[in-house]
Parts: sequence; structure tokens; C-alpha cells
Amino acid sequence: MEFAALAERAERVAAHDGDIETTLEVADLLANAGDGGADRGAGDDLPVVVRFLLGRVFPAHDTRTLDVGPALCREAVARAAGPNVDAADVEDRLAERGEIGAVAAAYDLGGQQGLAAFGSGRDALTVAAVDEELRDLAAVSGDGSESRKRDALFGLFTRCSPSEAAFLARLVLGEMRLGVGEGTVRDGIAEAFLSPEPTPADGDDSEGDDDGPADGDDPELAAPDDAVAAVERALQVTNDYGRVAVRARDEGPAGLRAESLRVGRPVQAMLAQAGNATDAVDAFGEVAVETKFDGARVQIHYAPDGVEADDGAPDSDALGGEDAALGPRLYSRNMDDVTEALPEIDEYVADRVDVPVILDGEVVAVDDDGDPLPFQEVLRRFRRKHDIDRMREAVSLRLHAFDCLHADGDDLLDEPLRVRHDRLREVLPDAAADLTLAADADAIAAEERAALDAGHEGVMLKNPESAYTPGDRGRDWLKRKPDVETLDAVVVGAEWGEGRRAELFGTFLLAVRDEDGASDPAGRDADDRDADDLAPPGYVTVGKVATGITDEALADLTDRLEPLVVEETGTTVAFDPELVVEVGYEEIQTSPTYSAGYALRFPRFVGVREDKDVDDADSLARIRRFAGDD
Ligand code: AMP
Repeated sequence: MEFAALAERAERVAAHDGDIETTLEVADLLANAGDGGADRGAGDDLPVVVRFLLGRVFPAHDTRTLDVGPALCREAVARAAGPNVDAADVEDRLAERGEIGAVAAAYDLGGQQGLAAFGSGRDALTVAAVDEELRDLAAVSGDGSESRKRDALFGLFTRCSPSEAAFLARLVLGEMRLGVGEGTVRDGIAEAFLSPEPTPADGDDSEGDDDGPADGDDPELAAPDDAVAAVERALQVTNDYGRVAVRARDEGPAGLRAESLRVGRPVQAMLAQAGNATDAVDAFGEVAVETKFDGARVQIHYAPDGVEADDGAPDSDALGGEDAALGPRLYSRNMDDVTEALPEIDEYVADRVDVPVILDGEVVAVDDDGDPLPFQEVLRRFRRKHDIDRMREAVSLRLHAFDCLHADGDDLLDEPLRVRHDRLREVLPDAAADLTLAADADAIAAEERAALDAGHEGVMLKNPESAYTPGDRGRDWLKRKPDVETLDAVVVGAEWGEGRRAELFGTFLLAVRDEDGASDPAGRDADDRDADDLAPPGYVTVGKVATGITDEALADLTDRLEPLVVEETGTTVAFDPELVVEVGYEEIQTSPTYSAGYALRFPRFVGVREDKDVDDADSLARIRRFAGDD
């Protein structure tokens, strides 16, 4: 395909602003872009066209980059624009127009160089040629690489028509401005190659042969959503839009289904949403609770010697050879290759794992006792290119693996988390994070307490039945929001514990000050208590806390509170309002149960506020504010 044709089609794509029209235009470009001319639409260039539309030369899993910054691009444009133009002129125009593509187009770069104008005489640039030149440019390294890149880019610009120059400038900077995101390209691929309807096209050429074998004849793709899901799934495992487009066109749904993970080809990390214990219990029933480690995400790919590492599928962009052994490779959350920076993790994996794997985990900096250090410490190691040995001495690392995407030839993405976790424990038991199944919020709170006590960030709450969905920030992984605020409450009552703890108070009734006395009916004197919830006058109750209290703290609280008992009924006691405690909670909700009219959800004991007396405790007005009612 001629590069000019792609640039012109891209302008047409950008001219649409509706989601559906844009998708149809993209689909038409992928399937029929040649308009019946000599080239067969995107044809052999399909993977490149797809990547270019997304502003990429390499697929997302490929760690190569062009490494062309805005300044270098401006200089190349300036040089191609002729002797009277310098980078400062380009910068001025950029300030006016705000966008490099429009600036490059306005210079008429090809003409300035005395080369034949677009379309007459010069060798037309093809998509394949531009791709090749940009790949060569990406490979330039070492001394003088910047000027060699500038020369290469200059050479390309001098061969560009205005619309090609705009496309090229945007492409090298990865800012296509076409209104085409990954979702549009995914939908466009489905529409172009899997849609039961002929792709709507402007002309009458929509029934081209390039539509592939797939059109509508797969019973599993009854609905358009199924086609999109099939493409999405293949994208998740391959992380390569170009490759998936070709598969969809040439082999249809069956080809997409045949795509699998490959050791050495990173996939996008599954992400988490914020959530709390209540959300997790409501949504999952039983909740898989793991420590949330405060480090840096790492995806580990490893194929030990002598073990087949590959699914054998053809791919010109494959990293490593087919069937090749692959030393451990470590990828960051953005799929940058960080292997060189983390040699001890590399060695750790190589020493322990003896089957091909893809693992997901977190690398944490630890002190001499093995306790976790703050996240900033791991960053001192993560992307480092120099002084690696020295830093290895200075900052020790530990790997916590929490998921297993592939083990010994089995793709596990669709297996439930509990099964993946079992495989993880098999392949790398030393580093496998603990996974605890919890059925209620109290059990989750206990895990959280333990994680925090061990110096970690909190907990992740996961659906034990869920698949691994690369790149998805879904509801199957919840990161527990830290308590936004704590509350300083007054202990106004308690219940004696049971069994082993019968000599200690177990559950504590919490109150806040009711400054305006709205809940304090006239005529009550100091000892009158609200018969239902033991709140003394001037206080309203907001909940009970029994969680997060160690045996030691319980004994201490009992010692402090026993002298304050003013009333005892059965196992329930009321106290003079004197002791202030700090409690965490997940949220405050309205509730008829307590006299404040609000209840703390999942209150958790933090500690005694020695420094506060009851007049400093929190008030009902503050509760209202927290609850969003004020
Ligand atoms: P955040 O960075 O706050 O969005 O939290 C999500 C991140 O927590 C993930 O991307 C991981 O890097 C990290 N993390 C730590 N521990 C875990 C775990 N057990 N499971 C999943 N992610 C974890």
C-alpha cells in the first residue's frame, strides 16, 4: 500500500467523530483500503497499517522503541523544510498550531528539497518502506545515534507529501490524533473480518476477497459482541494488534481461538479497582485475600534449557527463536524489559523453576531483617542501567509472586484464580504469596491487620473463581482502600468476653459527642442513660468495635475501663465517658441501630488516645460530614 493512500485514509478516519462511523471507516480501511486499485487494500501491509493507526511501529509486547523525541523530530522537519528554516521556526509554528503534524504538513517538505513533487516522478513511499526505515532507525544506537536518527528521519520527510509528512511526524511521536483508540481498532478488526454483514464501504468494493473465510459462518459468533470478544481475547494473549488482524482476516474465529500465550512475549498486567471488604464479600461470597505488597510489578517469563518455550506459531515479530530456551526475562507493568536491572531476581527464578512459566508478582525492597521497605526504595533499582552491582549491595530485593499465567505448556488465563495459585505454588513455592480464603469482613479485617503489622501496604481482595484478564481493570481484583480517616470515639459501654476471655471486656460500645444535644431529651440528668444503647447524656452511639484488638490491648482496656463501670446488666456494662479510642472503619452509613442515627461499618480498633480527653473526641457534626450529610 502506498504511504500516501494510508495518510489520506487516515485523514478520512479523523474526520469522523462518532464512535460507530469511526469504527466503520477503520474497518473499511483494513479490509478495502485500496479502493479497487493495484494494491489489495491493506493487504500484506495489514499488520503495519494496524500498528501505524495506533501510533506504533512495534507491537506493544516488543520492547523496542524508536526513541525519537519531539526535539529531534522538529529538527528533522526543519532540515527537510529547507535552508531558511530552523528548529526554532518549527517550534514557533508548533506554539501556534499546537500539533507537529499540522506544522510538518504546512512546510511542503518534499518540494523544498528540489525533489519531484508528490505523485510526479519520485519513488512513492510505501507503507512497507516507511516501516522498514523506522525499524532500522530504532536499531541505531551508540555514539552519534542521535544525528544518525535525525538524518534518517530527514530523509523520510524529504520524500513526503504534506499529508504524508503529517502522518509521519505524528507516528514517530506516537500521537496520531485520529480519534482511534485501541477499542476502535479492536472493533474495526471484528467489523472488517468477522462481521456477518459485508463491511459498509463508500464504494461498491466491499465484497473484496480480503474479507477472509470468516464472514458470519461461525456459529459461535452469532452476535457482533461475540466477534469483538474473540478479537479482544486474541489481543489479550498476543498483545499484538497487527498479528490479530491478520489472523482474523486469514483464519477467522478459529485462528483467533488458536492464539495462545508465548513465553517471552509479555502481556498486559491485570489491574485492580479500589474496593472494600463489604464489596468483596457481597460480590464474591468467599474472598481470596492476599497481601498487597508495596513494590513494583514484575511479569516473569522463563523457559529453562531444553524445554520447548513456544507455541510454534509463525510471527515475524517473535522475540527469541521458536522452541528456544529463554533465560528469565522480567517486564515492568508497562512491559519494559527490566531484566538487567534485577539480576538477583533473574538468578532466583533460574535456580528454582524447572518448567516454562509466565508469572506475575511484585518486587519489594527489604531491609536486613527481610522486612519491607517503602516503595521508593525499589524504584532505586528498577530501571537502573548503570551501577547495578553497587545498587544490588545497597538495596536488597525480594520477589512475591501472586499469579501464574502459564506453566509447563498450559495457558492458565481462563483457569480460576485458586487453580492458578495452586500451579504457582507448584512451580515456585518459595516466592508464592499466601492466599487466604475469607468468608466475612471480620476475617478480611484480621488478614489486613496482619499484613499491615508485617509492614505491607494492605490487602488485595480477589474473586477466587475469576480468570486472569490482561489489561483489564475489572471488579475481580479489589485493592482495599485504606481508611480515609479514623474516628476518635468515647467508650461508653462494653460486653464481657466469652470463654478464655470471660475476664476481659470483648466488645466496646463507641460514642461521639452530641454538641447541640439534639438527641438529649430535656430533663435527663447526668446518670440517665438511653435505655437502648447506654449512651450518657451529651453522647450518641455510633457502633461497636471488637476487631483489631490484641490480647495485650484487651487486658489494658479492661484495666482502664473497669473503674469506670457505672451500671451492669447481665454481660453488658456502661462506663463513665472518659476513655477515648481511635477507630478505623470502612464507611459511615445511616442506621437506626445507634442513637447517632449512623453506624460505622467494620470498625477496627487502632489504639487508645492517651493524648485526648472526651472534650477532644469527635462529634456528631463530624460524623455527618464524613457521611456526606453536611
Ligand atoms: P495500585 O498500584 O494502587 O493501583 O495497586 C495495584 C498494584 O498493586 C498492582 O499493579 C501490583 O503492582 C500491586 N500489588 C501488590 N500486591 C499485589 C497482589 N497480591 N496482587 C495483585 N497486585 C498486587
